[in-house]
Amino acid sequence: MFSNLSERLDGVMKRLRGQGRLSEENIQDTLREVRMALLEADVALPVVREFVKDVKERALGEEVKRSLTPGQAFVKIVKEELVRVMGESNDALNLSARPPAVVMVAGLQGAGKTTSVAKLARFLREREKKKVLVVSCDVYRPAAIDQLRTLADEVEVEFFPSSGDQKPEAIARAALEHARKQFHDVLLVDTAGRLHVDEAMMAEVQQLHAALDPVETLFVVDSMTGQDAVNTAKAFNDALPLTGVILTKTDGDARGGAALSIRHVTGKPIKFLGVGEKTKALEPFHPERVASRILGMGDVLSLVEEVERGVDRAEAEKLTRKLKKGKGFDLEDFRSQMSQLTKVGGVGSLMEKLPGMGQMSDKLKGQVNDKDVARLVAIINSMTPEERRKPDIISGSRKRRIATGSGTQVQDVNRLLKQFKQMQKMMKQFQKGGMKKMMRQFGGRGGMPPGGMPPGGFPM
Ligand code: GDP
Ligand code: MG
Repeated sequence: MFSNLSERLDGVMKRLRGQGRLSEENIQDTLREVRMALLEADVALPVVREFVKDVKERALGEEVKRSLTPGQAFVKIVKEELVRVMGESNDALNLSARPPAVVMVAGLQGAGKTTSVAKLARFLREREKKKVLVVSCDVYRPAAIDQLRTLADEVEVEFFPSSGDQKPEAIARAALEHARKQFHDVLLVDTAGRLHVDEAMMAEVQQLHAALDPVETLFVVDSMTGQDAVNTAKAFNDALPLTGVILTKTDGDARGGAALSIRHVTGKPIKFLGVGEKTKALEPFHPERVASRILGMGDVLSLVEEVERGVDRAEAEKLTRKLKKGKGFDLEDFRSQMSQLTKVGGVGSLMEKLPGMGQMSDKLKGQVNDKDVARLVAIINSMTPEERRKPDIISGSRKRRIATGSGTQVQDVNRLLKQFKQMQKMMKQFQKGGMKKMMRQFGGRGGMPPGGMPPGGFPM
């Protein structure tokens, strides 16, 4: 997500950083580029206008003039404004109602409602230890109810049965009654969508809303629909008292404009991002982190969280400690990272979040894909412990032995060693205070939260 915007802005920012003085003139040029970058990312025009106006006002103000490094001060402003349009901080789900807390989703057909209900169910069960009940009020397509049933099984939450001959409202009431009796903490209600906004659909979700009186009414929207996402959001926001938004399919969306526009047009926070088809591909939305990602500073915190969730925590801590102590990153670590990669969202989603990876990620992704990971692990398995600790001793004859042992070719072993060297170099950079340097560059306070990341502690 955001790779286009990120690339464009990164270029602009790089040029600026090198400049000692910011004049009205070069600010104008830069603003024009920022504007183009936003428009190309499909950010809604009114949002672009306001964004550029705010950045300009601040850039021409004292804040920048007094700064010793105006280019960096400008970058900081852009980042802060990005955070501001997206909503300042993460808005978590409000489940503080008397149980069962009812969460209802609404949105067009194919937006990702059913999938998001399953993802939320999993999130709430696993991370918040909630007892969750899900129900489908999509009576128009029998397959839709089955889809939720299957997903509920998968994420191990209770499914309240419904069928096509029932009225959505009756289903909702029965599910609510059941949730009360069985002491469920949360009831997640899936609803039917249409291909386009139409009155019948809106009337139905309004009725459901009245019957359920949910604490959370989440609008689910496909980020790939670009400007349409904004229009649909407006229509749903007019029809329902929305409490938040789930922006789906951000994994396939290179532009990411909707993330910047939705808040502005609805006044409602994005609460979650859908980042893949699997039920674990859901991320709480953190404006600050997303802004960092857009500006190529990497979303290290989400990365750490993701890793902590999917990965053996002890392993991650071991590596963090080791790197902290200034010890080298060896092939054992590389193997453990590689095998853990398969447990979290896959290589692509991790790469995107590494600082500076915005541009590099395609290249790296080309080199390391999920299928290769298994082979890499096999190769490392065929090495002796000493070889893993000191890869430099791996000579030609050792390479042949390792290749034979792992059923690969010598060139595969060579490729692995090359990839390992790259990773080791990256780790060294972070160890040398790359993070700190980066934070200083971006004005410190606006950057990563203090203590968020140990130096070099990248338990990827
Ligand atoms: P609904 O009609 O709103 O209930 O939409 P569904 O939940 O059935 O989703 C429609 C399609 O979008 C399905 O093929 C999902 O797998 C896919 N989908 C939903 N969310 C995401 C996401 O975040 N990323 C990706 N890549 N696909 C998604
Ligand atoms: Mg559905």
